[in-house]
Amino acid sequence: GCDCRRFLRNNWLLLSTILAVVLGIGVGLLVREYGKLSSLDKFYFSFPGEVLMRMLKLIILPLIISSMITGVAALDSSVSGKIGLRAVVYYFCTTVIAVILGIVLVVTIKPGVSQKADDIDRMGSTPEVTTVDAMLDLIRNMFPENLVQACFQQYKTKREEVKLTNELEKNGSMVTEEPFTVVMTTEVSKNLQNKTKEFKIVGMYSDGINVLGLIVFCLVFGIVIGKMGEKGQILVDFFNALNEATMRIVQIIMWYMPFGILFLIAGKIIEVEDWEIFRKLGLYMATVLSGLAIHSVVILPLIYLITVRKNPFRFAIGMAQALLTALMISSSSATLPVTFRCAEDKNYVDKRITRFVLPVGATINMDGTALYEAVAAVFIAQLNDLELDVGQIVTISVTATAASIGAAGVPQAGLVTMVIVLSAVGLPAEDVTLIIAVDWLLDRFRTMVNVLGDAFGAGIVEKLSKRELEQMDVTSEVNIVNPF
Ligand code: ASP
Repeated sequence: GCDCRRFLRNNWLLLSTILAVVLGIGVGLLVREYGKLSSLDKFYFSFPGEVLMRMLKLIILPLIISSMITGVAALDSSVSGKIGLRAVVYYFCTTVIAVILGIVLVVTIKPGVSQKADDIDRMGSTPEVTTVDAMLDLIRNMFPENLVQACFQQYKTKREEVKLTNELEKNGSMVTEEPFTVVMTTEVSKNLQNKTKEFKIVGMYSDGINVLGLIVFCLVFGIVIGKMGEKGQILVDFFNALNEATMRIVQIIMWYMPFGILFLIAGKIIEVEDWEIFRKLGLYMATVLSGLAIHSVVILPLIYLITVRKNPFRFAIGMAQALLTALMISSSSATLPVTFRCAEDKNYVDKRITRFVLPVGATINMDGTALYEAVAAVFIAQLNDLELDVGQIVTISVTATAASIGAAGVPQAGLVTMVIVLSAVGLPAEDVTLIIAVDWLLDRFRTMVNVLGDAFGAGIVEKLSKRELEQMDVTSEVNIVNPF
């Protein structure tokens, strides 16, 4: 009896989240069957879920800033350099492994070979990004020109519709008969503006926070105040207090989470219109999902086992709450508060590591997305009857890696950066519309793998950095009072 009660007390949040998922699916199916909701009603139905998303997004700004700054400031800079290098090596290696796994699977399973692109309905519109612009934007985002703006803007790229004219041809752009939508950076478009008047601004892509830019700034800021000694102490104390306050607010949000999740999942189930597409794209989805499964059940645990020599599955179970959250909200940035809690409170990963490794990981380390990009690109090539040679496979691997790094940790960001991969091998960018219909589902699973990869990364980097952490001056240890 006593054991059972302790188990309930320690895991009530996880258990109530699982219950919320089950209830949400049940409620969703029931309402779908008997509810007769208008599309407006459907919109209202998931409102409590929308509120949850808003709370999570609200907290990531103070969370990322305070954890990065205090995390870096607590390490002395020679140590933080080593730890940072280890983290980056881990991110890179696991991402490349995920891409290779995806390619191997999609080339052997061949989900697109017996089908034609025309057999699948296209849905939605193509996200307009070109390879060079996407790459440049990645770097641009690292150096936001305005810190305040970075808190609410993701991409700076302007989308403009251009009727391709002879003028443009002379500029070295491709020419088609149809009006064609391209994306240009402000710089490029300024140059073009003088030559042709035939384009208009469609809009700005701005979704969430420029996390990458903030991370780069906080990294530098943290190192600097850490080195300032006495004079910088007031700032270190300030951000430590901010971090603790933030974590307390996270705990309040966690109370609300099961309720929000219930409506989020129910609302999604009510909303999905077309289940038929799941049959048509079944083999493709199976390829992606089996790749994600192999990566998270075999490859990542193996790497953890070899380096840390502890039970990887126990570690993964410790992360359960975060994994479930990622599955429900398909955003690794918005899952970050939960990832922190699980890594620190359930798996006891050193806070000096998590504060540094988790926010960076949530932004640039996306194994699931990388695997998905590779599979999807080859799948689209197969649908188009295109035989890929070795060079093109390598191109897909490299661009899929870059696309996963460039993707923001927000829902379906991977679909946008997919266009980079497609255009790099000359596939029609509008073919992403073939897979849009099932992307919301795959997005959830790849986000879960993204979060798992970050978590294992924290565990592995901690182990590899044991010596440095032990040598470190105890007084510089991050002092967090667990508020619970
Ligand atoms: N939704 C994913 C994430 O937040 C990114 C993606 O679309 O692949 O990690």
